[in-house]
Amino acid sequence: MITKQDIVQSVPQKGFFGHPKGLLSLFFTEFWERFSYYGMRAILLYYMYYELNQGGLNLEQSTANSIMAVYGSLVYMSGIIGGWIADRLFGTTKTVFYGGIAIMLGHAVLALPGGLTTLFISMALIIIGTGLLKPNISSIVGDLYSDNDVRRDSGFSIFYMGINMGAFLAPLIVGTIGLNYNFHLGFGLAAIGMFFGLVVFMVTKKKYLGLAGSYVPNPLAKEDRKKVFSRILIGFAIVALIGYFLIQQGIMTIDLFTMIVSILGIVIPTIFFIVMYRSSKTNADEKSRVLAYIPLFISAMVFWAIAEQGSIILAQYADQRTDLTIGSWEISPAWFQSLNPLFIIAFAPLFAWLWVRLGERQPSTPKKFALGLFFAGSSFLVMIIPAYLNGTDTLVSPYWLVLSFFLVVMGELLLSPVGLSATTKLAPGAFAAQTMSLWFLTSAAAQAINAQVVKLYNPETEIMYFGVIGAIAIVLALVLFLSAPIIQRYMRGVR
Ligand code: GLU
Ligand code: ASP
Repeated sequence: MITKQDIVQSVPQKGFFGHPKGLLSLFFTEFWERFSYYGMRAILLYYMYYELNQGGLNLEQSTANSIMAVYGSLVYMSGIIGGWIADRLFGTTKTVFYGGIAIMLGHAVLALPGGLTTLFISMALIIIGTGLLKPNISSIVGDLYSDNDVRRDSGFSIFYMGINMGAFLAPLIVGTIGLNYNFHLGFGLAAIGMFFGLVVFMVTKKKYLGLAGSYVPNPLAKEDRKKVFSRILIGFAIVALIGYFLIQQGIMTIDLFTMIVSILGIVIPTIFFIVMYRSSKTNADEKSRVLAYIPLFISAMVFWAIAEQGSIILAQYADQRTDLTIGSWEISPAWFQSLNPLFIIAFAPLFAWLWVRLGERQPSTPKKFALGLFFAGSSFLVMIIPAYLNGTDTLVSPYWLVLSFFLVVMGELLLSPVGLSATTKLAPGAFAAQTMSLWFLTSAAAQAINAQVVKLYNPETEIMYFGVIGAIAIVLALVLFLSAPIIQRYMRGVR
């Protein structure tokens, strides 16, 4: 049996900005994985709705928007499967590797010219691959440090920088090549990015990661394997058969599929909460914390719903409603996707400093969530102004989008880093292995809702659209802020 101490001792404890060397492997692997993901997302929407003569698939705008959200939702929903596979079958390192391969293949498929079929095959591979990779690579970060290591939180912050550096560079490179030359070349670059990530991981894994992620935490007993595998296989076969039949009969349309994902996005977290609350392994304090986590989950969900529309609605806005010439310079609509990660990189240190500076006086977790949500709401409310001032027939200054992305990032910096750690502390001990997946479910649920919501946007509905969503977020933020002391009480000592 490998103990936590064995793992920590097997990892060179210094060598990467005063952090364990393993962090370097994880940092660059995740850098490249996010480079491929956000590079692909920066051009995918345009690829779907651009006309055939522009190299696109000529899908209807609202369908393309909806597919972006469904895709985003499934990418994070599949984390549950990835978490389970690592926990019970392969351990995290192997699972991350398999995930990387699937992701790389997924992008490579899109690099080939093809239509809707190749798009869906690529999506399936990337959904599975990201589910295998993303939650598990984040949990290896936690494995590198002993439980009382004070560097742990800053380790996660460095890792978060890696994520955002990848997300920052990708739209500039993949976006430019994809839009100015050829979409498939862009997707090819995303595949190459993931390839680099896999190389880094393979080359540095043995030396830097030691035993971290190499063991199976809760292995499936030999005698159970057969039963579990056959059930999974049968389940899979039934779903595939029904799916095939429904597609054949023309019953399964993109709209129906979208609806199913939207429902799953809400049902899965609900089941999660019920199971955690009712489990006999959950004690009274933990039950109370599960209840406290519900309003936080909902707020994070609404936050991500707005933030994730940055690559859907605001991307459409960048392309269709924004004046893209600055002086004699023509900017690419894809570049706006670099703003979020750029602001994260620029302002994360400021927030870190602020929390240290405020020490005990810093806002509680529920209050940080409320403030985060407030900023998200205001990022939509400001988008009312250009249409209000000039109508929707003229192009508007790109700085409106810059402002909107800036505001959402202020919210992201308040909510996202504390969100993961709050999940870790509030989830019952018996569910520790699922914590990462539970946090990613906030994004999955958010985008499941978006899949319906984003269909409603068009320049005619613009003021209403941004106004109503922004207002809902702000009202919810106020309610959360006012109920923060109550939630805090239910958190039973967790801060
Ligand atoms: N943008 C972050 C990432 O890609 C956050 C993801 C999320 O929780 O939605 O890792
Ligand atoms: N800020 C996002 C995340 O932390 C990246 C993005 O939206 O581009 O990775």
